[in-house]
Amino acid sequence: MEVKNCKNCGRLYNYIGGVYRLCPECMRKLEEKFQEVKDYIEDNPRADMREISENCDVSTRQIEQWIREERLSFSDDSPIGIACEVCGATIRTGRYCERCKNDLANRLGGMYGSRSSTVDADKIRERREKARMRFLDK
Ligand SMILES: [Zn+2]
Ligand SMILES: [Zn+2]
Repeated sequence: MEVKNCKNCGRLYNYIGGVYRLCPECMRKLEEKFQEVKDYIEDNPRADMREISENCDVSTRQIEQWIREERLSFSDDSPIGIACEVCGATIRTGRYCERCKNDLANRLGGMYGSRSSTVDADKIRERREKARMRFLDK
């Protein structure tokens, strides 16, 4: 088992994986904080990032992390937005805006397509080779 220092309190603990490098005690506190933030947003749907951060005593970076993990959601009139990781457009949850999400999906599809066209190019070359051989046989 791997032993690490907790990023928050510095205590040694048995690391079991995950993005948060926190000891079980700090992890539990963070979960409590998450519930607090979630409740606060439900009660104050129009609160902005700084207000939530100040009232719940949690960093804006932590709030942003929860948004990226799609654990927090906001109503349409909420002033909260985070930047799309590709184009910087304002989004309310996740990592990419709708347009970039589609773009990324298309690009993945394109990669697949170009791979099959390489296969086609190989087939054409092979056919040409055969044609040349027939010519030499004559
Ligand atoms: Zn800790
Ligand atoms: Zn985008």
